[in-house]
Amino acid sequence: MSPSPRRSIRRPASVRGTGLHTGARTEATFIAAPAGQGVVFRRVDLPGKPEVPARLSEVEAVERRTAIGKGAATIHTVEHVLAAVAAHEIDDLTVELSGPEPPILDGSVQPYFEALEQAGPTDTTGEAVILGVQAPFTVTEGDSSYIVAPAKELRLTVTIEWPHPLIGRQTGSFTVTPTAFARELAGARTFGFTSEVAALEAKGLIKGASSANAIVLDERGLATGGALRWPDEFVRHKAVDILGDLALTGARVRAHIVATRPSHGGNIALAWAVARATPRLGVPKMDIGRIMDTLPHRYPFLLVDRIIEIEGKQRIVGIKNVTINEPFFQGHFPGHPVMPGVLIIEAMAQVGGMLLMGYFEGQPVEDKVVYFMSLDNVKFRRPVVPGDQIRFELEMVQFRGKTCKMKGVGYVEGQVVAEADMMASVVDR
Ligand SMILES: [Zn+2]
Repeated sequence: MSPSPRRSIRRPASVRGTGLHTGARTEATFIAAPAGQGVVFRRVDLPGKPEVPARLSEVEAVERRTAIGKGAATIHTVEHVLAAVAAHEIDDLTVELSGPEPPILDGSVQPYFEALEQAGPTDTTGEAVILGVQAPFTVTEGDSSYIVAPAKELRLTVTIEWPHPLIGRQTGSFTVTPTAFARELAGARTFGFTSEVAALEAKGLIKGASSANAIVLDERGLATGGALRWPDEFVRHKAVDILGDLALTGARVRAHIVATRPSHGGNIALAWAVARATPRLGVPKMDIGRIMDTLPHRYPFLLVDRIIEIEGKQRIVGIKNVTINEPFFQGHFPGHPVMPGVLIIEAMAQVGGMLLMGYFEGQPVEDKVVYFMSLDNVKFRRPVVPGDQIRFELEMVQFRGKTCKMKGVGYVEGQVVAEADMMASVVDR
């Protein structure tokens, strides 16, 4: 696969309206972002204008929508905006929001897709990150199931089933390119049933719903008249939601995905599986020489062998090969060597230190050192023994001033061995 340039936009564009679940009036403004930033939401209505990257590690809720971020800075229903961004193959973008939820508009992605068209999608510098699936696999989550197979482009084959005269069983297959998306998917609206209104309202959802922003169905047909845009508009919209949720991988996905009864929870599980099973093409790497230029640690305390992926300032993947020659195995324990849990976390922290140093690109880092300030939610899932290769994946959750929060997970052969949330700060030596 030849490298593709990253894409952003030429000029800002805005859309205004009401949020589907929160009912809040909001304006969403697309702004060009530097290459490597990824897609970031910014809550301009809150003090400090907190930012939430559109990444899987930020997913907070998946009931009837996909919400990202924490507490007051949560952003609800990001999937339609992200589907439009992904359909234009835009990699770097800031989405400013004046409220907790992008507007639902007519319930389709069309207004977002057109606003981005107006904003002039354009190639920028750097290489787009591409998840090119290499071997088939399946994902099951609740009632939703997915088959993922290699393909040159993204193709979504979706089947839904609802015991309703206008839906029944629908299957559609769609190739996702900007032109095909505009023609076949952008206009497909979200839908709901009058029979679920009370239950969803009781949960504080759909406060902004109306027949102007969704297809509303009663037992027999369209509750408020009007017409469908396609007889299979329902399955088309589900394909749009999958595209939006897959965008949370922070990469362009190249695969044929066959989805049966997709849901947001299922789509997020699918996105995690695609992100983990697939090498990220177009991502820079670092060998031990570069690592030793960046980190002050030396034998026997340098616990990173290789950095295999660095995505801007957002995510890093590092490798530690554990051998019987590690000095700690002499005493931990004779005849029963297991890697001390605190050293697994230390190794994870060193990989995180490499991610953090990325913020000082172009500046000398020899006189900087990373101090870890807190560890939360540390869990050890299984022992690490000689012969294991630990793969540490860390995502930046927040960076303010010189302090950051990262989420790290260590895997051996795809199984989680340890995880932790870490807070660190960069200080001058
Ligand atoms: Zn949707």
